[in-house]
Amino acid sequence: MNNEQYEYNCILIRQGEIFLKGKNRSKFESLLLKNIKQKLKSFKCALQLSRNRIYVEDFNKEDLQKIIFALSKTFGVISLSKSVKVSTDIDRIAEIAGDMIPNEGTFRVTVKRADKSINQTSTEIAAYVGGKILKNKKDLKVDLHSYDCNINIDIRENGFSYIFTEVIPAVGGLPVGCSGTAALLLSGGIDSPVAGYYMSKRGLKLFGIHFYSFPYTSESALQKVRDLSNILSEYNIGFNLYIVPFTDIQLAIKNACPPELTITIMRRFMMRIAQRIVKMNKTNAIVTGESLGQVASQTIKGMISTDQVLDNDILTIRPLIGFDKEETIKISKMLGAFNISTLPYDDCCTLFIPKNPSISPNLKFVIEKESALDIDALVNKALENIVIEHF
Ligand code: ATP
Ligand code: MG
Repeated sequence: MNNEQYEYNCILIRQGEIFLKGKNRSKFESLLLKNIKQKLKSFKCALQLSRNRIYVEDFNKEDLQKIIFALSKTFGVISLSKSVKVSTDIDRIAEIAGDMIPNEGTFRVTVKRADKSINQTSTEIAAYVGGKILKNKKDLKVDLHSYDCNINIDIRENGFSYIFTEVIPAVGGLPVGCSGTAALLLSGGIDSPVAGYYMSKRGLKLFGIHFYSFPYTSESALQKVRDLSNILSEYNIGFNLYIVPFTDIQLAIKNACPPELTITIMRRFMMRIAQRIVKMNKTNAIVTGESLGQVASQTIKGMISTDQVLDNDILTIRPLIGFDKEETIKISKMLGAFNISTLPYDDCCTLFIPKNPSISPNLKFVIEKESALDIDALVNKALENIVIEHF
């Protein structure tokens, strides 16, 4: 390839499912544009929205790969192409296309002509450009169906054409924020960051809630959660973490309730506190990393007994409910979270885990045993001492 004859001066962004949203499309598009602006705020560049596409231009050459990388992790973006933007002139386009293509192998030219003021049809332009390329490169062959290189030429109404060969896949999904806001119960484990990833992908803007049992869990355990928050903030475009002191509650449960119910009762406290924080943020959903049957508390009855403390207007979302651990680990690795999640620091659950937690807690019995505690006072005290960190 001859790099001297052309320079990528534009990144073409294709939107995913936004297309499906009918009348709401412009709302989704402007949210995606806002998110992309935020994502690229540390780079010099200009963004333009035109006919379902977003274009990034005027960037520094050396930032190209970094910008592509940031965009490929932005929900709502389905794919990207580095392209050469030129004033529409078919001979000039053919010249650049010729420079972009390797000297041997097979190729095709694909033309999209939105600019109907050009007299030739797309097929005629493709044949003309292909013919010019072949004149200069004797070892190339045209093959419309099985090709090594596809030269794409988008001729737009604005007087410009975009030439590209590569379509780089991005994460897809919906722009973060278009589905509202929710809390993610974020432990330092493998599951909850993955659950967060999936819900950001469906357009939920998340904030995290972490229950922290200092000094029973160490500063390093909290640092894990901060490192995971940093990863989530990339996808979620910023991430606020509510750190809730949980030691007093765990000790109170341990002292006053039967050991086999401590996990169930502890999770009911987590949900009560999460609900209060969710309501303070004027939202209605709590996301957890639970998966059916994974541990004793993640049974149908276990989950019913945790959800029972919630008001009717709160939804618990468990995106990993049907996942095998192996599937979750695959995504955790893809996110770069796995090595952090598996660092060997105790989390607040493992520390107070009884030998035989109930897998089928009897709700009446749970409520009766829980009543030994001053629930409101414990919840209020934890809420008063929350620390919020921004990522
Ligand atoms: P994870 O890998 O996410 O820790 P897990 O399989 O270890 O999950 P549990 O520890 O029982 O399962 O927790 C189930 C879910 O409860 C977690 O996915 C998370 O959403 C929430 N959770 C557990 N511990 C905490 C904590 N200390 N702070 C906030 N949320 C928590
Ligand atoms: Mg855990």
